[in-house]
Amino acid sequence: MTENSSVELSVEQRKEIFADNFEDIKGRISAAAIKSGRKPEDILFLAATKTIDIQVINYAISKGLPAVGENKVQEFLSKEEQLLSGAQRHFIGHLQSNKAKDIVGKVSLIHSVHSVKLARIIGELSVKKGITSDILLEVNIGKEESKSGFLAEEVLENLKEISKIKGVFVRGLMTIPPICSNSSKNRAYFKEMYNLFLDIRSKKIDNSSMEFLSMGMSDDFEAAIEEGANIVRIGTALFGKRNYTF
Ligand SMILES: *Cc1c(COP(=O)(O)O)cnc(C)c1O
Repeated sequence: MTENSSVELSVEQRKEIFADNFEDIKGRISAAAIKSGRKPEDILFLAATKTIDIQVINYAISKGLPAVGENKVQEFLSKEEQLLSGAQRHFIGHLQSNKAKDIVGKVSLIHSVHSVKLARIIGELSVKKGITSDILLEVNIGKEESKSGFLAEEVLENLKEISKIKGVFVRGLMTIPPICSNSSKNRAYFKEMYNLFLDIRSKKIDNSSMEFLSMGMSDDFEAAIEEGANIVRIGTALFGKRNYTF
């Protein structure tokens, strides 16, 4: 293999990588939880399963993986029927309004609501189905132009608006901080998110709850937990480097 060639791992190799990493990551999640004064079971270990074969995902679920999340609607649809029951299904990626109909009613949590408009559409679709959709509000904590999500200072006013919408219930916040090589910088973003989360929780907005703070990925999930995350979304550290990227 030349240095730049992409890794192409087989299903069997992926299963082995998962088996090698799963207990280790669970242990690291537990340790970070305890370090921050919480219980290991208070943290939801969600696997980010984009590009990962359904056989590998189902193997992981059969070994006790508690939750899985896709970030593309098309990919979610191509996998959902074959997906083993027993793990929570979340949607973690950017959701376009016109694709919300493919997700509503099929996942237990949508992490990435980035506008009042999207919340309204999810609400309408949910009401038609006679359900309430649990959602998180995505926060663009690094104020990046390339990312969607509410700016920190806009979250409260938008939450007030969204909490009036029938068919959705806001359960917390989610963020993807800027990619940075400096881990202390990421920790500062996590701290800022946690303070925002606490501040909003203290406002006790009707028809919402601040229970979940979804942040932390392969390279920084321990820091995120130590700073207050209770859902971490982990891909590469669990399944190995992805075969192809989007
Ligand atoms: C891919 C992805 C992750 C996981 O990223 P890794 O660095 O592979 O752990 C987390 N959250 C979202 C929204 C993702 O798309």
